Amino acid sequence: MRHHFIDNQWVPGVSGASIAVIDPSTGETFDHLARGNAEDIDKAVHSARRSYEGAWGALTAAERGRLLMKLAYTLQDHAEELALIEAQDCGKPLKQARTDAAALVRYFEFYAGAADKLLGHTIPYQSGYTVMTLREPHGVTGHIVPWNYPMQIFGRSVGGALAAGNACVVKPSEDACLSLLRIAELAAEVGFPAGALNIVTGFGHEAGDALVRHAGIDHVSFTGSPTVGQMVVRAATENYTPVTLELGGKSPQIVFADADLDAMVPVVVNAIVQNAGQTCSAGSRLLVQRSAYEAVIERVAQAFGRLRVGPASMDLDCGPLIRHTQLQRVQGFLSEVQADGLRIAGQGEVVAEAPSGGFYQAPTLVRDVPLHHRLAQQEVFGPVIAAMPFDEEADAVQMANATDYGLVASVWTRDGGRQMRMARQVRSGQVFINNYGAGGGIELPFGGVKASGWGREKGFEALYGFTVLKTISIKHD
Ligand code: NAD
Repeated sequence: MRHHFIDNQWVPGVSGASIAVIDPSTGETFDHLARGNAEDIDKAVHSARRSYEGAWGALTAAERGRLLMKLAYTLQDHAEELALIEAQDCGKPLKQARTDAAALVRYFEFYAGAADKLLGHTIPYQSGYTVMTLREPHGVTGHIVPWNYPMQIFGRSVGGALAAGNACVVKPSEDACLSLLRIAELAAEVGFPAGALNIVTGFGHEAGDALVRHAGIDHVSFTGSPTVGQMVVRAATENYTPVTLELGGKSPQIVFADADLDAMVPVVVNAIVQNAGQTCSAGSRLLVQRSAYEAVIERVAQAFGRLRVGPASMDLDCGPLIRHTQLQRVQGFLSEVQADGLRIAGQGEVVAEAPSGGFYQAPTLVRDVPLHHRLAQQEVFGPVIAAMPFDEEADAVQMANATDYGLVASVWTRDGGRQMRMARQVRSGQVFINNYGAGGGIELPFGGVKASGWGREKGFEALYGFTVLKTISIKHD
């Protein structure tokens, strides 16, 4: 049974209740977590507050940066161990889990370097005044993390918050927390003062809700679904707590007839298949100019036909989905596809060796999906892509913007003018031209518009969200 990590110690849950940890590759329980409640959260928030007002808060920005860098090096030394933990806990193929561990290291390295470069301004004002701005930490920040990329999302959110000087309380997903508990233990070993980083495990409606409502929390960083995001915002308003929301997406991959199809196909396929499609920025819609539509469908379908799905340990193209209910959700979308007479143009294969208890879904390309079909509008969170043709550039813009979401988009064209027109007209937090995701893009500000969220994480921009701006005006002769 895993305990919470509070005040640099393993602390048993107050209730003694537990949550089973299930291996998605087999469906079997292999561990248990403490089922945290409001009392556990209260302990963690008090520990963080003591640290913020004590040893952690007393460090200079350079000292904080040095500790973050020490942690980055230690995480690098433990990268394989962390990847193996994440692979089993989330069902990720090992190569994906290794990529996630490398990104985690890079987040801490990046934010370590940024810690002492977060500057305020001086503002030209009336004579006889000197006016300046300071960027101060919020104080104690709460971080709610989903199960799809625990290490990466922890790195970008907690790495930035610590660099800015906050003390953190993290509530990971009940479906995947083991890597984060190990990271917190490593942080204590490299010298993070007690209380700077606390982890409380548990369900969202219990521990998560208690964290958001706690009067001692000064900022919440929430990454998860839009529905829960709205609940978090409502709960946070009780104490006027500011919230960053990193929510879902229905990201379009827009292919014009003049695109380099050889370069495009593997990137477009990977953008939906990575992490078995359980990625907020999954490229889950394929919009193709009509004159190239059949050629693109054929090539993407062929690539899908080569994809193999199996347990994390086999390290194939896709692992299982996170849990049984997620598999049912994806299968629900595919049942509708069948009932509505839509055509499946290509599908991967679940290998015979995949354990029967695992949660496997073959990657699926569905063609000619009407713009307002549920598959073209809602987040599936599985390896399913909805393809549809468009005629003119203006149609591509209109279709790209015709969902509730606006997280990421890609545009594939050789026409420089069109690249810029599309980049400006697509409503989305990030637009990639002739690439997708920029290989992780730790340095690149990330976040959504519309139902994809508020605020930005990643890059230097995140540090603004993890600080409060104070204006100081000095009157002098
Ligand atoms: P989820 O919303 O169900 O859960 C996310 C986290 O919120 C979990 O830790 C959960 O325990 C917690 N939670 C649940 N109910 C809560 C409540 N009432 N109060 C406080 N916390 C609560 O999402 P999920 O299924 O874990 O993750 C998938 C979703 O996350 C998808 O929509 C995906 O697009 C989104 N996501 C977004 C990003 C991004 O950066 N924009 C990144 C990854 C995932």
